Amino acid sequence: MSDNTNQPTSQQQLPSAAQASVPAVSHDDIRNFIPPDDCLDGKTILVTGAGDGIGRIAALTYARYGATVLLLGRTSSKLEYVYDEIESFGGKQPAMLPMNLEGATYAEMQKLENLIAKEVGQLDGILHNAGMLGALTPLEMYDVDMFAQVMKVNFTSTFMLTQALLPLLKDAAHGSIVFTSSSVGTHPRAFWGAYALSKQAVEGMSDIFTQETQNTTNLRFNCINPGGTRTNMRAHAFPGENPMSLKTPEDIMGGYVFLMSDESIGVRGQVVELQPKD
Ligand code: NDP
Repeated sequence: MSDNTNQPTSQQQLPSAAQASVPAVSHDDIRNFIPPDDCLDGKTILVTGAGDGIGRIAALTYARYGATVLLLGRTSSKLEYVYDEIESFGGKQPAMLPMNLEGATYAEMQKLENLIAKEVGQLDGILHNAGMLGALTPLEMYDVDMFAQVMKVNFTSTFMLTQALLPLLKDAAHGSIVFTSSSVGTHPRAFWGAYALSKQAVEGMSDIFTQETQNTTNLRFNCINPGGTRTNMRAHAFPGENPMSLKTPEDIMGGYVFLMSDESIGVRGQVVELQPKD
């Protein structure tokens, strides 16, 4: 008996990694994507960090394009506000999923999967958006507790939640998982400490998930890098910067919708920079 009996035959083989990861559209097309009305109709999308910043606007935008949005975040009052905003423009009824990703356990995430399966019945996409900056300081001085906290919120919880929700995502016709990276995730920079390392790990995770699933499932994993965007996190990272010089979360939503819509079927393993530097 040969030692590679688990390998697919040539007839069974799906496109190679290289073929499967080539986007049908360029990153410029993704950045300039103008979503057709209702392009997310019938989809259920979970957004983490949905109460504020980019996550809030992504949740509202997904709802405007027809999705049922599951709002995950740690501050219930902020989720309630977003819930009311979606109701006020006649979006599909969202659901609130309060969860602090810093302390959340895998068992809680599995319970969440059961709850979504029972109450909603489907999950077509996750936008992993929640994140924290941590300290901007040399690694030599980085507080180890804060290091663990940043890694848990930005990376480990993202892995745990993805794994826990995979059964539902695999049931979707074309599940889309979008991780949020950053320029320092692609090119680590001095003083960005755990934040940069957590984003590097996120990019690596997206790559590995892509390799492990692309020949056997319809799932697609991609990273998005919003680039400098006018939010609280950006203001903390760059206190001297004029916020009016930055794009707003609304300005960059084309790429966020693209990666959740069926327009991005076949786009896998990409790191999409929404505001590339010249
Ligand atoms: P904000 O700080 O404005 O929002 C972050 C969101 O994450 C908030 O809703 C926050 O909840 C939530 N969050 C933080 N910690 C937790 C936690 N422990 N559990 C659950 N939710 C949590 O950040 P941005 O909108 O700017 O950032 C969104 C993503 O984009 C992040 O991943 C960030 O790293 C990335 N990014 C942002 C850039 C920018 O210029 N803004 C540039 C590059 C990347 P709460 O409001 O309750 O605190």
